[in-house]
Amino acid sequence: MVDTIRQNLQNLNTQIAQDVTLVAVSKTKPNEAILAAYESGHRIFGENKVQEMTRKWEELPRDIQWHFIGHLQTNKVKYIVPFVSLIHSLDSVKLANEIDRQGARHRRIIDCLLQIKIAKEPEKYGFSQEEALSFLESLNTNPLPYLRVRGLMGMATFTENTEQLKEEFSLLKRFFDQQKATHNLEILSMGMSGDYPIAIETGSNMIRVGSAIFGSRQAH
Ligand SMILES: *Cc1c(COP(=O)(O)O)cnc(C)c1O
Repeated sequence: MVDTIRQNLQNLNTQIAQDVTLVAVSKTKPNEAILAAYESGHRIFGENKVQEMTRKWEELPRDIQWHFIGHLQTNKVKYIVPFVSLIHSLDSVKLANEIDRQGARHRRIIDCLLQIKIAKEPEKYGFSQEEALSFLESLNTNPLPYLRVRGLMGMATFTENTEQLKEEFSLLKRFFDQQKATHNLEILSMGMSGDYPIAIETGSNMIRVGSAIFGSRQAH
């Protein structure tokens, strides 16, 4: 297992340009798998469950940067605010207010990405472009000093249709380009194991890759 993970990571790193950040999505995977990647030099890991990420943070080396990539319930923000390095899934104004409130309590400015709906599938979570804009603009009059919006995140439809993937990623890239100067956006998080080459081609600078590094996950 250890050798496969190292090999997969090495292959990925040789494929992607230096300006693309790789988030190794370790959800459901044991500490040993994470340590295998860690020992080959990787430091950025993504998790989608609060309890699991918090446990791994407690058990694993402290220089790991933990990215939260799943839907975050407001009542669980307090558990990850002390250590999270980037929240990819800021998907509501209510959640933003709670992240700011908990950030203030811990005196930590929390870096976040706005999750934007781009898939054709009905998506439960995420801002529409209009909602994202009105939220970003609201920060001018109602600043949230302990929350910093660093960029945008999107998930494409689960499909092998490359034209559709390109279309969905391009939509987000266009919105990112339109807003990045005004709102200081630097990070565009899009692309997973099945679609990261297309996401990068379309302009992603952060990919979230799980199964292509750690192997497939059990359905749960
Ligand atoms: C699980 C997950 C990933 C990684 O998925 P893979 O297909 O295993 O690469 C990326 N982003 C989010 C939001 C996820 O939940």
